Amino acid sequence: MIFPVKINRTERNSLLIGWNDNSSTEVSITKLRDECPCVHCKGESVIFDSYIPIKSPFKAAGFYEIDKIERIGNYAIQIIWKDGHNTGIYSWEILRELGEKK
Ligand SMILES: [Zn+2]
Repeated sequence: MIFPVKINRTERNSLLIGWNDNSSTEVSITKLRDECPCVHCKGESVIFDSYIPIKSPFKAAGFYEIDKIERIGNYAIQIIWKDGHNTGIYSWEILRELGEKK
């Protein structure tokens, strides 16, 4: 199983994630927020009915700033943003997909 061994914030406003297979990926914080996987941001499909959230052009203060990162068990991290948004759970797979290989 692939999991991160370290997650560092960089000066380039990104997260650099080192994986246990010795690879590393980098993902910008802007992208992390834009791709927030939670239901409020991404919507959800319940058979026959989909909910697609409306993207507001207005971004609250702190929208693209990370307040805290918390580990969820051994499968994901939860990112708490400075605008108070905290429902985004980023599984290792999502982090790998969003990141660019270094
Ligand atoms: Zn979200």
